[in-house]
Amino acid sequence: MHLEDIFKILKSVRCLDMDYDSGRILGSMCTKPDEIGLRAYKMFIDSNLGDPGLFAGTTLLESEVIGMLGNLLHHPDCVGHIVTGGTEANLMAICVAKYKFQEKNPGKIPELILPRSAHFSFNKILNMLNLKPVYVNLDENYRIDTKHLEELINTNTMAIVAIAGTTELGYVDDIEVISEIAYENNIYLHVDAAFGGFVIPFLDKKIPFDFSCRGVSSITIDPHKMGCAPIPSGGILFRYHEDLKRLSVRTPYLTHDHQNTIVGTRSGASSAAIWTLLKYYGYEGYKNKVDKCMDVTWYAYDKLNKIDKVNIRIPELNLLSFTVEGIDTDTLQKKILKDYNFSVSVSEYPHAIRIVVMPHVKKVHVDEFIRSLEEILES
Ligand SMILES: *Cc1c(COP(=O)(O)O)cnc(C)c1O
Repeated sequence: MHLEDIFKILKSVRCLDMDYDSGRILGSMCTKPDEIGLRAYKMFIDSNLGDPGLFAGTTLLESEVIGMLGNLLHHPDCVGHIVTGGTEANLMAICVAKYKFQEKNPGKIPELILPRSAHFSFNKILNMLNLKPVYVNLDENYRIDTKHLEELINTNTMAIVAIAGTTELGYVDDIEVISEIAYENNIYLHVDAAFGGFVIPFLDKKIPFDFSCRGVSSITIDPHKMGCAPIPSGGILFRYHEDLKRLSVRTPYLTHDHQNTIVGTRSGASSAAIWTLLKYYGYEGYKNKVDKCMDVTWYAYDKLNKIDKVNIRIPELNLLSFTVEGIDTDTLQKKILKDYNFSVSVSEYPHAIRIVVMPHVKKVHVDEFIRSLEEILES
């Protein structure tokens, strides 16, 4: 086939995709990658962090990125890796917790305490690592019920998962209290801040959720969500070097003698992009991005709240959740997509329309969305 014909096909296939600039994507935690990050990404596209001896420069960038993320999360000396996303990051953390538990408790079936609000990646992890899930209740505000958490802890408890920015509501568990419970009981605590990691540090309201809480063992933070880095960009950070080392395997034929990551050959382009974004935007730049998203979030909240039949929850991060009286949520979602081409998602618990106000969502898009919603309600 002629090259130009092939690319013509690619172009037409690409047209089937939705694009961020249209403002129609309202239910994704990803966004249009920042141009500056993309420039660095392209420069390092052929680097392989799986073979660090060959790519010493890129390896340096990754370790500096981990230091910068650690700095943001109050532990500059943390260790970790840039990985493919929140799923891989969570898997690495829970795997470490399992190895630690098994060493001390041979033969016991490890129990993982997690809330129902945990991301579905934990369902994969529970299966892969053969763990027994123990679900902690949510309180009336959809956050971990810390009293119930204390009741669930027993000698089989391997680890606790808490969420800083739930996927469905963007709510932050009371990590300060959970951290003390984990610390007192000497239990591994993993904080999943895949979404919230690039939001919470930049809010005006200070919410403790990171390594400043002494019981937190590891944190997932995804640069390809609110970090505006290209996909794939996840981050896993550990408080202790010994913990990360538990994942280490020998790599006989490579330039470096061991490897900690699940993925072997892995691009350093993500690390280069994140490094560049963190250097260029810094704390102030990211705060500015988050401020803008929160401004649009409250703008949309006020408008939706003014509609009689809409029941909307108070947002904590840049995520909105609402239901409409008299219309089934799934029917409403389908109508919004089919008749108005807005892609919103539906959360399971609570069963509601979910909107993620990412940087590509502007006030004009909100206005247009509200008009569409009002038309549906009038019809
Ligand atoms: C998005 C998300 C994940 C999964 O991240 P991927 O990058 O899609 O693998 C995990 N946890 C939370 C809280 C998330 O929001």
